[in-house]
Amino acid sequence: MSLSQLARSISESPTLKLNETAALLRDKGEPVIHLGGGEPKSKAPIDAIVSCAALLSTGDVKYTPADGIPALKKAIIRYTEDHYGRQPLAENVIASSGAKQSIMVLLHAILDPKEEVIFPVPYWVSYPEMVKLAGGVPVPVVARSGGFEPTVEEIAENVGTYTKAIIINSPNNPSGAVYSDQFIAGVVELCEKNNLYLIMDDTYNRLIFDGRKPTNVYNFSPARGLDDSKLVVINCVSKMYAMTGFRIGWTVASKEIVRAMTNIQSQETSGPAAPSQWAAVGALNGVQSSIESLRLTLENNRNVMLKRLGGFSGVNVVKPAGTFYCFPDFSAYEKDSQKLCRLLLDKVRVVTVPGREFGMEGHLRMSFCGTIKEITEGIERIKWALDPAAPNELYLGDRKLTRDWR
Ligand code: PMP
Repeated sequence: MSLSQLARSISESPTLKLNETAALLRDKGEPVIHLGGGEPKSKAPIDAIVSCAALLSTGDVKYTPADGIPALKKAIIRYTEDHYGRQPLAENVIASSGAKQSIMVLLHAILDPKEEVIFPVPYWVSYPEMVKLAGGVPVPVVARSGGFEPTVEEIAENVGTYTKAIIINSPNNPSGAVYSDQFIAGVVELCEKNNLYLIMDDTYNRLIFDGRKPTNVYNFSPARGLDDSKLVVINCVSKMYAMTGFRIGWTVASKEIVRAMTNIQSQETSGPAAPSQWAAVGALNGVQSSIESLRLTLENNRNVMLKRLGGFSGVNVVKPAGTFYCFPDFSAYEKDSQKLCRLLLDKVRVVTVPGREFGMEGHLRMSFCGTIKEITEGIERIKWALDPAAPNELYLGDRKLTRDWR
């Protein structure tokens, strides 16, 4: 079979692959604990369901404008006013089939072949592959401190003649880190100075802890209006409303970028699915309490996970300030994160994601979006698998395991 060079250069999404593996094992009756997941367990808000069902009940489900239905754009405009203090026009907004498509279409709209896109390490798994899909070159930037936030100078050192954009995802998947105001201000300034696009991936913007306020990147930008700026803000209903399966994300940017993205999206997929757009309208215009209740649950889950991880003497963990991911350093036990992830799945049926996929070896991404029982039992099993001081036997349900790998 002859596949394109592009197809051969792109790897499968490791997180989606792990979901499949976990589902297959579960189907076989294996007692899998999934700490690899990237979606909240809660249900979609009732307002989303009612709004979606209202469209479905008419049976009149048709194409929509390529950039989204007016009602969704209106709801996004209001969201932007409420949470960012900016008033985009409808022409500054495009809805897509998830934030993933928003970013992909945006990259297609701004990148010429071989142009570079910078992002800090650790990064969301999909950024490098998405940049490559759009013909660009990913440029991950490692913090010399070994931490999760490089300095602005470290980012600036990587800006060259081919640099087109910088992507910042805060709070960050996988580390849960919220970048400092100083860092965001510095990156905004760097982009303005070098005429670069700044793509703020605000997927987890509202899911933050310890009394923090969501970062509003516009506060750091001297640009007068959206149309004078290369600042692009991406959001979605996926995480904050627990609506991953609806696949609705959106972009707020200059009219020029939105127009280009609309042309591309109109040829590639047309508008997002109409029932999903109406569900997003319901979520954005409806009662907002589900976000706070999710946020509180996640904060509590984070605390439980941190406390349990504290029971590992060799594990170094930085407290996540947002998202539902923790990114502990397990290198004291095993430096090869893929090997460790495989061992945990094979031996104790716990799914984690190897740090290597996010550009940082030795770490594992562990989600705390599941139940407290999953978190505590999952970490218990990991501890048993790795800790030389643990007893030699463990029961998974009624199955007795004997440790024979250390
Ligand atoms: N950005 C980040 C950082 C994410 O973690 C995800 C989802 N895992 C997305 C974008 C994509 O979101 P969506 O499901 O809306 O496509």
